[in-house]
Amino acid sequence: MQVNGDRLWADLMALAQIGAGAAGGNNRMALTDADRDAKALFAHWCREAGLAVSVDGLGNTFARLEGREPSLPPVFAGSHLDTQESGGRFDGPLGVLAALEALRAITEAGIVPRRPVEVVNWTNEEGARFSPGLMGSAAFAGTLPLDRAHAVADRAGRTVGAELARLGWNGAAPMGGRPVDAYFELHIEQGPLLEAAGVTIGAVTQSCHSAFTDAVCHGETSHIQSTPMPQRRNALWGAARLIDAIERTGFAHAPDGTASAVVIDAWPNNRIVLPSRAGFSYGVMHLEEDGLAAMVAAIDASAEAIAAETGLRFETVLRRVRRPFHTRRRRSANSAPTARTGWRPARSRRRWPAPPDRSAPMGRKAAVRLLRLRRPQHGVPLQHAMGARAERHGLATRLLRIARAHVGAYAARKAREAERQGSRAR
Ligand SMILES: [Zn+2]
Repeated sequence: MQVNGDRLWADLMALAQIGAGAAGGNNRMALTDADRDAKALFAHWCREAGLAVSVDGLGNTFARLEGREPSLPPVFAGSHLDTQESGGRFDGPLGVLAALEALRAITEAGIVPRRPVEVVNWTNEEGARFSPGLMGSAAFAGTLPLDRAHAVADRAGRTVGAELARLGWNGAAPMGGRPVDAYFELHIEQGPLLEAAGVTIGAVTQSCHSAFTDAVCHGETSHIQSTPMPQRRNALWGAARLIDAIERTGFAHAPDGTASAVVIDAWPNNRIVLPSRAGFSYGVMHLEEDGLAAMVAAIDASAEAIAAETGLRFETVLRRVRRPFHTRRRRSANSAPTARTGWRPARSRRRWPAPPDRSAPMGRKAAVRLLRLRRPQHGVPLQHAMGARAERHGLATRLLRIARAHVGAYAARKAREAERQGSRAR
C-alpha cells in the first residue's frame, strides 16, 4: 500500500494558498478568518474521503475512519493548521494532511482497521495569537479547562470564545474525556540538526525541560530631555540588560541548554517619555532538570544584580515550568523501523525513566510539541521528525512508509526541477 504523494503535495500547496505569509510561507494564526478557511477546507477534504467529521468546543476537528471494533479507543494522527505570523507551509499541515492521506490510502486499499483511526486538527497549537499554545490538545487532555481557554484574549482583547462563535467553529462534540489508544504526529524538523546531519527522518525520543517566563521591569516615567542621568529609571534599559544576560546564559549552557527573550512591550512607548514599564518574555530550555534550574538561577541572579545597580525593579509575572516528554524506547516506533530502514533517530540520548502517568498519551503528546527548536520555518526542506508510541497496530510502520514515499516523491520532484532549470540554463 502506498500513499498518493502527488495528491498530498497538491493538498499542501492548496492549503498554503490560505493566509499568505512572508517569503512564500503562511500567516494563519489561530481563529483568524484564514484559520477558519483552512479548517473548512480540511473538513471538506475529510468528508470527501468518507470520514465522519466532528468539532468540539475549541474547534478541534476530528475525522474518523470507523474500525471493525468501534468501541475500542481510537488511534489518533494529526497536527495543526494554524501558524505563527512567520509560519511555513509545512509546519503542522504536513502532519494533518499526511494523516488524511494515510486514511485515504487505507480506505482505497479496502482495509478496515480493527480500531477506529481519527485525523485531528488541533486548534491553536502555536500560541502565536492566544497564549498558551497547545491549547486545543491541552483542553482535550484535560489539563486546561475549557472555560479558561475560552476566556483567553489576544492583544486586541478578542477572546478565544468570541472568535470561535464569530467564525462558527464552536462545535458540539464533548471536549476530550475519551480514551485514545495511541497518537502519531508527523512533523517537519523544527531545527537545523537533521538537515545538517543529512538524515531524512527521525523519531522524537525526548524533549527538554523548559521554563517560560513573563517578566516586567519597573522604572519611572520622566522627560527624556530634562531628566539628569543619575535620576533616570528607564525600564527599557533594565529589560535590555536582563535580555542580554538571558541570551548570554543560553550561550554559556549550549548546546544542551538554550535561552532567549522573545517579546518586549514598553510603556508608554513614545519618543519623549522614559518608560516606567517594560514587559518581556523569555524561554529557557535544558535537557537536564538540574541544568534548567542552574540557568534559571543564573538569570534570576542577573536580575537582582541589575536591579541593585540601576534602582529598577524586576517582577516575575508568570513562570511556566514544563517537564519533558520521553518515549519508552523499548516500545516506541523508533527501534524496529529504524533497524530496518537505517534511519536514525533525531537525537540519541541517555535512557529516561518512563513518565509516571501512562494512561494519558495526550499529555505526552502535548509534551512532544515542546521539542520545537527555535528557527523560522521558511524554506525548511521536507525532513521529518516523528513522535510515536506503540507500534503494535503496525500504523507506525505504515506512517514511516508513507513518510518515505513522500520524501521520495519530493526528492524526485526536486530532481526534475533541477533538471528543468539546468536545461533552461543551457
Ligand atoms: Zn507544528
